[in-house]
Amino acid sequence: MRVVLATRNAGKLGEFQDLLPGVELLPWPAEAPELPETGAFFHDNALQKAREARAWWQARAKEGVDGFLADDSGLCVDALWGGPGVLSARFASGHSQDEKNRMLLGLLPGGAPRTARFVCVLAYYPAQGEPWTVDGAIEGTLAREPSGCGGFGYDPIFIPEGHDRTFGELPAEVKHGLSHRGRAARALALRLGACP
Ligand code: IMP
Repeated sequence: MRVVLATRNAGKLGEFQDLLPGVELLPWPAEAPELPETGAFFHDNALQKAREARAWWQARAKEGVDGFLADDSGLCVDALWGGPGVLSARFASGHSQDEKNRMLLGLLPGGAPRTARFVCVLAYYPAQGEPWTVDGAIEGTLAREPSGCGGFGYDPIFIPEGHDRTFGELPAEVKHGLSHRGRAARALALRLGACP
């Protein structure tokens, strides 16, 4: 099956290629607009991106595809009232990812709990029919400083529960086996009937 992946985030694209080997993923075209994400919740944003992607694609009568997939995800830190959460991509905008990671760690009050979770909501909009969502989350703690250069985004500062290394240090297969996106992608593949 052929599905348009509504993202320009290279980290997400690479992970979905690993996680959904039974699905032919078409990248979001360079000439297409940025997809809006104005909701207050991951679900709203994922559905909004999938809906807008479908509308843009179908208005241009582009090649036939089975559906449109959008991911809204982020890091929710308990000591920061769940932030940056849905604003994870926009946190400290203009700074490098390494600066963002260090700035986020610097926001934690001394002695505060370091618990956090990654959350991922996937919205799937079939070419014909109604949209639906699946989600996944992984609990963990924040490292004292960034470590490792694997993965993307906040991976170097997140230590998943049951491990003593960050997602940036752990092999990609380990991350995929337990990550928020891995869990959501397996639920998606099951529902699409596209399990590896
Ligand atoms: P959005 O879903 O486009 O709003 O962006 C989500 C943001 O959350 C990304 O740009 C990353 O900063 C962060 N994020 C989401 N998933 C991951 C992950 O698996 N590892 C590290 N950072 C992530």
